[in-house]
Amino acid sequence: MNIAFIGLGNMGSPMAANLLSAGHDVCVFDLVEAAMADLEGQGARRADSAEAACRDAEVVISMLPAGAHVLGLYLGDGASPGLLDALAQKPLVIDASTISPDETRRVGEAAAARGLTYLDAPVSGGIGGAKAGTLTFIVGGKEAGFEQARPVLEAMGKNIFHAGEVGAGQVAKICNNMLLGILMSGTAEALALGVKSGLDPAVLSEIMKQSSGGNWALNVYNPWPGVMEGSAASRDYQGGFLTDLMAKDLGLAWELALKARASVPMGSQARNLFALHSAQGSGRLDFSSIQWLYRAGE
Ligand code: NAD
Repeated sequence: MNIAFIGLGNMGSPMAANLLSAGHDVCVFDLVEAAMADLEGQGARRADSAEAACRDAEVVISMLPAGAHVLGLYLGDGASPGLLDALAQKPLVIDASTISPDETRRVGEAAAARGLTYLDAPVSGGIGGAKAGTLTFIVGGKEAGFEQARPVLEAMGKNIFHAGEVGAGQVAKICNNMLLGILMSGTAEALALGVKSGLDPAVLSEIMKQSSGGNWALNVYNPWPGVMEGSAASRDYQGGFLTDLMAKDLGLAWELALKARASVPMGSQARNLFALHSAQGSGRLDFSSIQWLYRAGE
């Protein structure tokens, strides 16, 4: 298929590369020149604007940092018109970014008003999953659009879920990431307690993995440097899933909780921890660097 891919960051670049590997014709756009050059080297076409990238597209995929970027891209920002107004060919539009369900519904309604099918399809699985093509896609939108998107998403992911109408994908993703934030900070806390009490972090990790404290953060994303080969912690927390993005997702969970009149005490703790960690200068480090908060004073 002819696919336009907008947003070639930590996640978008490997996702676009997998679409190329699956034989799709991919035209890319990002604000960062080097990101486009890299994909061009792997066989993509590149464009000078998002609009140009979408000219012949049957499917448009965006993978941007936050809601402001997605609203700016599709609806415009006052200075420039939105991309939705330029999609005369009526491609299927899929936004894979993690943003608020309300912002998603705003874009979805604007798309529907123009006769476009719009899906929110946030992902889980991190950069490792993006590279391996094993992401989980959590899709919101009409059933027909979901079925149309499925073969394209299967080139980038292993588990493709339909959560409900537009916005439902974001709700499910936000719940998942709130739990991840809680699990990562809890894991860092337990490791720091064990190490400060004389245990080896690798030995303690192995024990907890095989015991009832085992969880995704501990099993595949250990936050203690040197315990797990290839982890973000073992490369000075460079790349990965940024602290600022986790703080954003926990903020989205907080907004969702206010609206739903739901109580999220553990999510609130995690939000404050990641916000504090970001304010101390770690926003651009992988989120597992939350371990540093617990290592202070060593
Ligand atoms: P990133 O910051 O690495 O990449 C975002 C890219 O979007 C950048 O290359 C930036 O230049 C580009 N961009 C911003 N505005 C643009 C515009 N108007 N037009 C074109 N390009 C634009 O972020 P990421 O880690 O790739 O994450 C993207 C989304 O996926 C976020 O919503 C994040 O929460 C979510 N997510 C990330 C991970 C992860 O492990 N990194 C995992 C799951 C979900």
